[in-house]
Amino acid sequence: MREGAVRARARPTPTPSSPPRSVLYVDIDIHHGDGVEEAFLTSNRVLTASFHKFGGGFFPGTGSVHNVGSGEGSHYALNAPLRDGITDDAYASLFVPVMDAAVAKFDPGAIVVQCGADSLAGDRLGRFNLSSTGHAAAVTHMARYGRPTLVLGGGGYKISNVARCWAGETGALLGAPMAEQLPANEYTDFYGPDYQLAVPVRERERRDGGGGGRCALDSHSSPPSPSLQSKPGLDNANSPDYLATLRTTLLKHVAAMGSAPSVAIGGERPPDAPEPEAAPLWDKGADAGDDEPPARPE
Ligand SMILES: [Zn+2]
Repeated sequence: MREGAVRARARPTPTPSSPPRSVLYVDIDIHHGDGVEEAFLTSNRVLTASFHKFGGGFFPGTGSVHNVGSGEGSHYALNAPLRDGITDDAYASLFVPVMDAAVAKFDPGAIVVQCGADSLAGDRLGRFNLSSTGHAAAVTHMARYGRPTLVLGGGGYKISNVARCWAGETGALLGAPMAEQLPANEYTDFYGPDYQLAVPVRERERRDGGGGGRCALDSHSSPPSPSLQSKPGLDNANSPDYLATLRTTLLKHVAAMGSAPSVAIGGERPPDAPEPEAAPLWDKGADAGDDEPPARPE
C-alpha cells in the first residue's frame, strides 16, 4: 500500500533530449568523495562538491579546502572539510550558499547527489550531529534547482537509521511525506523504543539537572557516566568563525571557476570513432513506457 501510494504521487521524470553538457556531483556522505573527485579531477565538465569530516586521522584523509582540482579541472572540485558534531543549522549555513553559488556559476545540465547516511547523528562511524530533517534538507535543496537529478545512497553504519533516512528522503523527493510513526512490520524490533521515522540529533547529557533540551538521563537517579560526555559528535566543533572562513574560501573557489562548458558531454566524438551500436539512453523517446525495455538492434 505504501509503495502504491508513493508511485501514485510520483511525477514522470522528463527524458533529456540531449546529453547534459555538465554534471554537478554533490556528496553529503561523512567521508570525502575521493573516488568521484579523482575520476574527474582534470575535467571541467563534472563539478564535484564534497562536505565531509576531515582531520584527526578520519578516513580517507583527503579533501582539504585547498584541493580544487587540476589542469582543465582546476576549480571544478569543491571540498568542505568539517569537524565533529556539525548541526543542521551550521551545515545549512555552509551548504546552501555554496551550492547556490555553484549552481548559478556552473549551470549544471544534471545533478547527482550522494546521500551517505553516515553523516547522521548517532552513526557508528560518523561524528556529525545531523538530524534526518537536516540531512533531507540538503537533498531537497538540490532537487529544487529543477535540473535532472539522480539521487544515490552511500555509506551508513547504523542500519535502522539508514533505512529511516532514505525512506524519508524518497518520500520528500516524491512529494509524499510519510507518517512519523512507523507501521508495524517484520523488522519493527529494529526501530524501538520510539518506532519513529525521524532520526533525532544527539544531545549532551546534563550533569547538574539544569539547562534546557531533552535529557537522555532524565529518568535515571544515578549520575551520568563521564564516558557518555566524551563521545565524539556531541559538541559542534565547527565554530561560526570556522564556518564563515570556510564559506568565504569556497565562494572564492566558485568565483574562480570558468564559465560552464557549452558542448554536451559525448558531443565531441573523434571523427574516426566507430558508430555506437545502439541509440544512447538519452535519445529514448519521451513517450516510451517506463516498463518497456529498450529495443534491441536486429
Ligand atoms: Zn561514508
